[in-house]
Amino acid sequence: MRRNVRRRRRGLAFVAICVVAIAVVLFIRYENLTAEAPEETAANSQTSSPDPAESDQPVASDNPTDAPSGDPSDEPTDEPSNNNEASGEQSPSNEPDKPAIATAGEEDGYAVVAQPASVAVLVDKQYKLPDGYEPTDLVYPDVRFTFSEKIDKRKMRKEAAGALEDLFAGAEKDGIYLAGVSAYRSQSTQKSLFNRYVAKDGMEKALTYSAFPGTSEHQTGLAIDVSGSDGKCAAEDCFGGTPEAEWLADHVAEYGYIIRYPEGKDAITGYKYEPWHIRYVGKELAQEIDEKDLTLEEYYNAVPVSQ
Ligand SMILES: [Zn+2]
Repeated sequence: MRRNVRRRRRGLAFVAICVVAIAVVLFIRYENLTAEAPEETAANSQTSSPDPAESDQPVASDNPTDAPSGDPSDEPTDEPSNNNEASGEQSPSNEPDKPAIATAGEEDGYAVVAQPASVAVLVDKQYKLPDGYEPTDLVYPDVRFTFSEKIDKRKMRKEAAGALEDLFAGAEKDGIYLAGVSAYRSQSTQKSLFNRYVAKDGMEKALTYSAFPGTSEHQTGLAIDVSGSDGKCAAEDCFGGTPEAEWLADHVAEYGYIIRYPEGKDAITGYKYEPWHIRYVGKELAQEIDEKDLTLEEYYNAVPVSQ
């Protein structure tokens, strides 16, 4: 009897060992299969694999201290992350500094911004407003203009208009008398303006100084061209270097505005220097952009605009 029991035990033990061995072989095969799949997180079970040849898979670095092998080449230190090639050096913790602009499809080769009513919206030669966008809170800012009619181009969005009134008042305290030249412009107005320029100079040249309909910041109700109160050099190069232009460059950020097309940044903004064109973005953002000497494109990491 005892001998039978012993024999049976030995038999059972043998079967058990076989089962374990088969299980191990199957497991290793499974590992090899999954390790070939991209961004598989097989790393946790990696340690049970006796095959060091798998160490070329970056997932091994997930848990390097668990590695059973003493071979230091197991650790692919040049590839510490699973799958971050595309995002480059941008780590998620940088996101608040470099937000992306949200888009919703494409139109005429431009990305269409998803939040046209955001005061921080980026509108340029890559990002356009949704077709026919009109702000809903346009008002007449109580400031001097170079003309007297109550027309569209005197309008701005409420928040920007209030900030503009403060800005003009602040300038006057410094002996600088400003005047608005042109603020809001609807898409249809921009369209007829742009078509006129194209007829005169051709598409390519027109695009260097005028915006394709839907891509003008003036359509946001957040931008305005400003001159001195005499209206001299209004929206012209000779405005640069005037006391008014210098005051704007030094102070607009205090009121939530930026010089949208700074000197020497044409390759990024897509526009030559426009010392007269100021854009409301809110105080916090304006001051950050001013301190870091950025353009709105650079702030959004949306560079370069090639033309
Ligand atoms: Zn302008």
